[in-house]
Amino acid sequence: MPQNPPLRALILATHNTGKTREMTQLLKPYNLKLLSATTLGLPEPEETGKNFAENASLKALSAAQLGGMAALADDSGLCVEALGGAPGIHSARWAGVPRDFARASALIARALKNKQAREIKERRAHFLCCLALAQPSGEVQIFEGRAEGSIIWPPRGANGFGYDPIFLPRGFSETFGEMNPAKKETLSHRARAFSLFADHCLKRPAR
Ligand code: IMP
Repeated sequence: MPQNPPLRALILATHNTGKTREMTQLLKPYNLKLLSATTLGLPEPEETGKNFAENASLKALSAAQLGGMAALADDSGLCVEALGGAPGIHSARWAGVPRDFARASALIARALKNKQAREIKERRAHFLCCLALAQPSGEVQIFEGRAEGSIIWPPRGANGFGYDPIFLPRGFSETFGEMNPAKKETLSHRARAFSLFADHCLKRPAR
Protein backbone atom coordinates (compact mmCIF):
# COMPACT_ATOMS: atom_id res chain seq x y z
CA MET A 1 0.00 0.00 0.00
CA PRO A 2 1.43 3.46 -0.84
CA GLN A 3 2.57 5.43 2.24
CA ASN A 4 0.87 8.73 2.96
CA PRO A 5 3.25 11.70 2.85
CA PRO A 6 4.19 13.13 6.30
CA LEU A 7 1.42 15.36 7.60
CA ARG A 8 2.30 19.04 7.24
CA ALA A 9 -1.18 20.52 7.04
CA LEU A 10 -4.52 19.42 8.31
CA ILE A 11 -8.13 20.52 8.15
CA LEU A 12 -9.77 20.48 11.58
CA ALA A 13 -13.15 19.11 10.52
CA THR A 14 -15.29 20.60 13.26
CA HIS A 15 -17.57 23.59 13.70
CA ASN A 16 -17.47 23.34 17.51
CA THR A 17 -15.36 26.19 18.92
CA GLY A 18 -14.61 24.30 22.16
CA LYS A 19 -13.26 21.33 20.20
CA THR A 20 -11.31 23.58 17.80
CA ARG A 21 -9.63 25.29 20.77
CA GLU A 22 -8.67 21.98 22.42
CA MET A 23 -7.54 20.35 19.14
CA THR A 24 -5.38 23.37 18.24
CA GLN A 25 -3.76 23.30 21.67
CA LEU A 26 -3.11 19.53 21.51
CA LEU A 27 -1.51 19.88 18.05
CA LYS A 28 0.69 22.84 19.02
CA PRO A 29 3.94 20.85 19.48
CA TYR A 30 3.83 19.44 15.93
CA ASN A 31 4.24 22.52 13.71
CA LEU A 32 1.31 21.65 11.45
CA LYS A 33 -0.54 24.21 9.38
CA LEU A 34 -4.11 23.95 10.70
CA LEU A 35 -7.11 25.05 8.67
CA SER A 36 -10.54 25.16 10.18
CA ALA A 37 -13.58 23.72 8.39
CA THR A 38 -15.51 26.82 9.47
CA THR A 39 -12.96 29.24 7.96
CA LEU A 40 -12.85 27.19 4.74
CA GLY A 41 -16.65 27.42 4.57
CA LEU A 42 -17.02 23.63 4.48
CA PRO A 43 -20.49 22.28 5.26
CA GLU A 44 -21.23 20.38 8.48
CA PRO A 45 -22.32 16.92 7.30
CA GLU A 46 -25.29 15.27 8.96
CA GLU A 47 -24.17 12.78 11.61
CA THR A 48 -25.98 9.67 10.40
CA GLY A 49 -23.50 7.09 11.75
CA LYS A 50 -24.46 4.37 14.26
CA ASN A 51 -21.47 5.03 16.52
CA PHE A 52 -18.72 7.56 17.28
CA ALA A 53 -16.28 6.03 14.78
CA GLU A 54 -18.77 6.19 11.89
CA ASN A 55 -19.65 9.81 12.65
CA ALA A 56 -16.00 10.84 12.99
CA SER A 57 -15.24 9.13 9.65
CA LEU A 58 -18.03 10.80 7.76
CA LYS A 59 -17.06 14.26 9.05
CA ALA A 60 -13.35 13.73 8.27
CA LEU A 61 -14.02 12.25 4.81
CA SER A 62 -16.37 15.06 3.81
CA ALA A 63 -13.77 17.71 4.78
CA ALA A 64 -10.83 15.83 3.18
CA GLN A 65 -12.64 15.33 -0.11
CA LEU A 66 -14.10 18.84 -0.35
CA GLY A 67 -10.91 20.50 0.95
CA GLY A 68 -8.50 18.32 -1.07
CA MET A 69 -6.17 17.57 1.87
CA ALA A 70 -5.97 15.41 5.01
CA ALA A 71 -8.65 16.19 7.58
CA LEU A 72 -9.06 15.31 11.23
CA ALA A 73 -12.50 15.01 12.83
CA ASP A 74 -13.51 14.35 16.41
CA ASP A 75 -16.77 12.68 17.32
CA SER A 76 -17.21 12.57 21.03
CA GLY A 77 -19.79 12.49 23.73
CA LEU A 78 -20.80 11.65 27.24
CA CYS A 79 -22.07 8.13 28.03
CA VAL A 80 -23.90 7.66 31.35
CA GLU A 81 -24.02 4.02 32.51
CA ALA A 82 -27.34 4.22 34.39
CA LEU A 83 -28.94 5.77 31.29
CA GLY A 84 -27.87 2.91 29.01
CA GLY A 85 -25.01 4.97 27.56
CA ALA A 86 -27.14 8.07 26.76
CA PRO A 87 -26.70 10.75 25.57
CA GLY A 88 -23.76 9.04 23.74
CA ILE A 89 -23.64 9.89 20.04
CA HIS A 90 -26.59 12.25 20.64
CA SER A 91 -24.65 14.40 23.15
CA ALA A 92 -24.74 17.53 20.97
CA ARG A 93 -28.37 16.97 19.91
CA TRP A 94 -29.58 16.69 23.56
CA ALA A 95 -28.68 20.38 23.83
CA GLY A 96 -31.11 21.36 21.02
CA VAL A 97 -30.67 24.25 18.59
CA PRO A 98 -29.26 26.69 19.54
CA ARG A 99 -27.12 24.51 21.84
CA ASP A 100 -28.04 24.78 25.51
CA PHE A 101 -25.79 22.54 27.60
CA ALA A 102 -27.18 23.81 30.90
CA ARG A 103 -30.54 22.37 29.81
CA ALA A 104 -29.01 19.13 28.46
CA SER A 105 -27.08 18.70 31.74
CA ALA A 106 -30.28 19.26 33.72
CA LEU A 107 -31.98 16.54 31.61
CA ILE A 108 -29.21 14.10 32.60
CA ALA A 109 -29.49 15.09 36.28
CA ARG A 110 -33.27 14.64 36.20
CA ALA A 111 -33.01 11.23 34.48
CA LEU A 112 -30.53 10.06 37.14
CA LYS A 113 -32.80 11.35 39.91
CA ASN A 114 -35.72 9.43 38.40
CA LYS A 115 -33.55 6.30 38.52
CA GLN A 116 -32.77 7.07 42.21
CA ALA A 117 -29.08 7.11 41.27
CA ARG A 118 -27.62 9.08 44.19
CA GLU A 119 -24.33 7.40 45.04
CA ILE A 120 -21.29 8.32 43.00
CA LYS A 121 -20.92 4.69 41.81
CA GLU A 122 -24.51 4.76 40.51
CA ARG A 123 -23.68 7.89 38.52
CA ARG A 124 -20.71 6.47 36.61
CA ALA A 125 -20.08 7.93 33.16
CA HIS A 126 -17.33 8.28 30.61
CA PHE A 127 -16.45 10.67 27.86
CA LEU A 128 -15.42 9.00 24.63
CA CYS A 129 -13.55 10.58 21.74
CA CYS A 130 -13.06 9.02 18.33
CA LEU A 131 -10.64 10.81 16.05
CA ALA A 132 -10.76 10.06 12.35
CA LEU A 133 -7.92 11.04 10.05
CA ALA A 134 -9.14 10.98 6.43
CA GLN A 135 -7.21 11.42 3.19
CA PRO A 136 -8.77 12.78 -0.01
CA SER A 137 -8.23 9.23 -1.43
CA GLY A 138 -10.88 7.93 0.98
CA GLU A 139 -8.46 6.25 3.41
CA VAL A 140 -9.48 6.64 7.08
CA GLN A 141 -7.67 5.84 10.35
CA ILE A 142 -9.44 5.87 13.73
CA PHE A 143 -7.99 6.59 17.20
CA GLU A 144 -10.07 6.31 20.38
CA GLY A 145 -9.68 7.75 23.88
CA ARG A 146 -11.80 7.51 27.03
CA ALA A 147 -12.03 9.41 30.33
CA GLU A 148 -13.81 7.69 33.25
CA GLY A 149 -15.72 9.56 35.92
CA SER A 150 -19.18 10.31 37.25
CA ILE A 151 -21.97 12.85 36.98
CA ILE A 152 -22.35 15.45 39.73
CA TRP A 153 -25.15 17.94 40.32
CA PRO A 154 -25.32 20.95 40.53
CA PRO A 155 -22.79 21.87 37.83
CA ARG A 156 -19.41 23.24 38.95
CA GLY A 157 -16.99 25.50 37.08
CA ALA A 158 -17.00 27.69 33.99
CA ASN A 159 -14.00 26.29 32.11
CA GLY A 160 -14.15 23.92 29.14
CA PHE A 161 -17.39 23.43 27.24
CA GLY A 162 -20.43 21.19 26.86
CA TYR A 163 -20.92 18.80 29.80
CA ASP A 164 -17.60 19.66 31.53
CA PRO A 165 -19.24 21.26 34.63
CA ILE A 166 -21.14 18.03 35.51
CA PHE A 167 -18.28 15.56 34.85
CA LEU A 168 -16.04 14.61 37.76
CA PRO A 169 -13.10 12.60 36.42
CA ARG A 170 -12.27 9.51 38.49
CA GLY A 171 -9.64 10.19 41.17
CA PHE A 172 -10.05 14.00 41.08
CA SER A 173 -11.99 16.48 43.20
CA GLU A 174 -12.48 19.09 40.45
CA THR A 175 -14.91 18.73 37.55
CA PHE A 176 -13.59 19.27 34.01
CA GLY A 177 -15.40 22.62 34.25
CA GLU A 178 -13.36 23.66 37.30
CA MET A 179 -10.06 22.32 36.04
CA ASN A 180 -7.39 24.45 34.50
CA PRO A 181 -7.52 23.62 30.73
CA ALA A 182 -3.88 22.44 30.85
CA LYS A 183 -4.83 19.86 33.49
CA LYS A 184 -7.86 18.64 31.51
CA GLU A 185 -5.44 18.25 28.60
CA THR A 186 -3.41 15.68 30.53
CA LEU A 187 -6.33 13.31 31.18
CA SER A 188 -9.23 13.96 28.82
CA HIS A 189 -10.66 11.48 26.32
CA ARG A 190 -9.59 13.88 23.55
CA ALA A 191 -6.02 14.11 24.87
CA ARG A 192 -5.82 10.28 24.98
CA ALA A 193 -7.10 9.89 21.42
CA PHE A 194 -4.68 12.62 20.29
CA SER A 195 -1.76 10.90 21.90
CA LEU A 196 -2.51 7.71 19.90
CA PHE A 197 -2.94 9.77 16.73
CA ALA A 198 0.34 11.59 17.34
CA ASP A 199 2.22 8.34 18.04
CA HIS A 200 1.04 6.89 14.73
CA CYS A 201 0.99 9.89 12.42
CA LEU A 202 3.08 12.80 13.69
CA LYS A 203 6.66 13.55 14.46
CA ARG A 204 7.44 15.92 17.32
CA PRO A 205 9.89 18.45 15.82
CA ALA A 206 13.44 18.25 17.18
CA ARG A 207 14.24 21.09 19.60
P1 IMP B 1 -20.26 15.94 18.24
O1 IMP B 1 -19.01 15.12 18.40
O2 IMP B 1 -20.07 17.11 17.35
O3 IMP B 1 -21.45 15.10 17.93
O4 IMP B 1 -20.55 16.63 19.65
C1 IMP B 1 -20.22 15.99 20.83
C2 IMP B 1 -20.81 16.70 22.02
O5 IMP B 1 -20.34 15.97 23.17
C3 IMP B 1 -20.29 18.10 22.21
O6 IMP B 1 -21.14 19.07 21.65
C4 IMP B 1 -20.27 18.23 23.73
O7 IMP B 1 -21.51 18.54 24.19
C5 IMP B 1 -19.99 16.81 24.20
N1 IMP B 1 -18.55 16.73 24.48
C6 IMP B 1 -17.59 16.15 23.73
N2 IMP B 1 -16.39 16.31 24.28
C7 IMP B 1 -16.58 17.04 25.39
C8 IMP B 1 -15.69 17.56 26.36
O8 IMP B 1 -14.47 17.44 26.34
N3 IMP B 1 -16.29 18.25 27.35
C9 IMP B 1 -17.63 18.45 27.44
N4 IMP B 1 -18.49 18.02 26.55
C10 IMP B 1 -17.97 17.31 25.52
